[in-house]
Amino acid sequence: MTRILKTVADTRQALEPIRKGTKVLGRIVGGRIPVSAKHRLALVPTMGALHDGHRELIRLAREHADNVIVSLYVNPLQFAPDEDFEKYPRPVEQDLAMLEEEGVEFCFMPADEEMYPEHEEVTIVSAGEAGRILEGEFRPTHFDGVLTVVAKLFNIIDPDVACFGEKDAQQLALVRRMVDDLDFPLEILAAPVVREADGLARSSRNTYLQGEDRAAALSLSKALSAVEAKAGEGVTVALAAGKEIYEHEALASMDYLELVDAASFAPISEGFQGEALALTAARIGTTRLIDNRRVQLGA
Ligand code: AMP
Repeated sequence: MTRILKTVADTRQALEPIRKGTKVLGRIVGGRIPVSAKHRLALVPTMGALHDGHRELIRLAREHADNVIVSLYVNPLQFAPDEDFEKYPRPVEQDLAMLEEEGVEFCFMPADEEMYPEHEEVTIVSAGEAGRILEGEFRPTHFDGVLTVVAKLFNIIDPDVACFGEKDAQQLALVRRMVDDLDFPLEILAAPVVREADGLARSSRNTYLQGEDRAAALSLSKALSAVEAKAGEGVTVALAAGKEIYEHEALASMDYLELVDAASFAPISEGFQGEALALTAARIGTTRLIDNRRVQLGA
């Protein structure tokens, strides 16, 4: 049975016996010494509307810990006023069924009042300049909202490991940097992008895609494939090939298609050799999607 936790206090209390790797297994009965054992706790932060991408993270968490906690929380702080916070899917029963199916021990499912009781002003973790490029150029307050809620989750849950998806590559890089910069005592693990059979990256927002929008959404993964196919010919040619895919899809409107150094996220220029990351975002009607792929540039 997945135990549902809704408050910070209940969560701390429930996790107390397994936090930071030690659990007292036995009680002192008849003067016997209690037995201690290692019990690692893994956190999988999500906004719910769970799909196979989340399932992959839960399985990764399970490989590295014997207790798994999944958070289901649509964090208002990471949405701009004109974004889809209100309409974001919240199929709670379905989500809980998946957690049961995967044998997840705990689910943290707080209300907004629990996470942000004051609401007027909240201390924010700043992603800095790295949070204002790529996604950050189009969603300027997004990564500060993400880092703030992730820092809160780390403090509330105090896991040994936390699992994130490479689907949100910039988010993953910023979370890793925050963990280093703010000395969170935990390990970050990443799972590869999980896709539909036709290449579309799984996303909770895919449920918004109806009819011809669903076909148009393939332009993201197709653009990344085009970049990959032309990677041997250099940055300019590769990006042009990707952008051409968008030009042929009237229903897709590209926000960006960029190549960055996969290790540092630094922009790369012509002549770069090594592992790069191709990142893209596009709008299909009112649905905004992102995707990325590792690409080998040069010899
Ligand atoms: P979300 O619920 O969309 O905030 O995502 C929660 C976590 O799941 C994040 O770490 C995402 O990167 C990860 N995730 C979402 N979609 C995918 C996917 N298609 N493949 C792998 N990880 C994913």
